[in-house]
Amino acid sequence: MKILIVGAGMAGLSAARILAKYHEVTVIDKGRGVGGRMATRKIGDCQADHGTQYFSVQSANFQALIDQLLTESVVSTWQLAQRTNIRYFGSKGMKMIPKKMSENINVILNEKVCKIVNNKLLAESGNEYFFDQLIITQPVPQIQELLNQSSIDISAKDESVLNSVKYEPCIAVMAVLNKETSIQSGGIILENKPVAWIADNFQKGISTKPCVTLHASANFSAENFEGDLNEIAQKMLESVEEFIPKSSIETYQVHRWRYSLASSRFHETFYQFDDKSIFMAGDGFGIGNVEGAFLSGLNVAEFILEASLKTVK
Ligand SMILES: Cc1cc2nc3c(=O)[nH]c(=O)nc-3n(C[C@H](O)[C@H](O)[C@H](O)COP(=O)(O)OP(=O)(O)OC[C@H]3O[C@@H](n4cnc5c(N)ncnc54)[C@H](O)[C@@H]3O)c2cc1C
Repeated sequence: MKILIVGAGMAGLSAARILAKYHEVTVIDKGRGVGGRMATRKIGDCQADHGTQYFSVQSANFQALIDQLLTESVVSTWQLAQRTNIRYFGSKGMKMIPKKMSENINVILNEKVCKIVNNKLLAESGNEYFFDQLIITQPVPQIQELLNQSSIDISAKDESVLNSVKYEPCIAVMAVLNKETSIQSGGIILENKPVAWIADNFQKGISTKPCVTLHASANFSAENFEGDLNEIAQKMLESVEEFIPKSSIETYQVHRWRYSLASSRFHETFYQFDDKSIFMAGDGFGIGNVEGAFLSGLNVAEFILEASLKTVK
């Protein structure tokens, strides 16, 4: 069976790893690399995670993957001073986790999917891809845009599921510093400030030089999302001067995440459209976050496998 997966983030790769053992699987992503919101950026000699900062593990299935990646030194643990349970992150940057997961998977990058016509996916490049089953894992508003361009009958139920998933925006600032910070345990959660989180990528061990990531709060990000990026970054940096003195900042970059955390999610871990060959998965389904995206991909893959075995019988 030909299975196409749109999105090489945690959900898409989690599904692909299972399905590729039994079917012809292709993952298509518009990005230059895999990982989606599990993103790491180089700024000169520095490196910063600017999407996901860390993740937790609750389920046995996700724990099995993370234990394997811990033994391969792809993942490390992080004990934040403000939190009791252990968090995890990519030892050499968050994006190394999806990169490792994508080994041996057929991934096509730099390919933006723009339309579904019958059992065919069309890309902006003009390329066409046929599928028997399609799993779409973009943030749900982007899935909605794709479906609006497509010739697919959307039922009232499909529509209500699509409308039920919402995301918070997040503005991220990555600043290169000329000296180390004294942020305890390399990360600090702030309340009632424009900035909700500061990570010291140097202390975290992913940057060879001092470099921090700031995430604006959901409210500040929503209020300032369309504003001037330089002014927004200045406001964010000024609000955390007690941790990052102005004199220590060498340079900075800003990134707007229109979709960061899925604040309102569909209760099941994936969704099968009335058109039975199309599925939606990702962090908008189930428990959310990195682990939710992993479980969503795993569950949709298991469902497709089970259904294909029934057909064979
Ligand atoms: C700023 C920020 C902070 C976060 N912090 C945390 C955290 O601390 N802990 C935590 O657990 N989670 C955190 N998250 C959330 C976490 O990153 C996500 O829940 C998870 O990575 C979602 O994975 P996914 O596969 O569902 O989606 P994504 O990672 O978004 O993957 C979707 C993929 O689809 C691709 N795509 C989109 N449109 C198209 C198209 N038209 N054609 C082809 N490809 C397309 C994208 O390029 C992307 O690679 C954070 C996210 C952000 C942005």
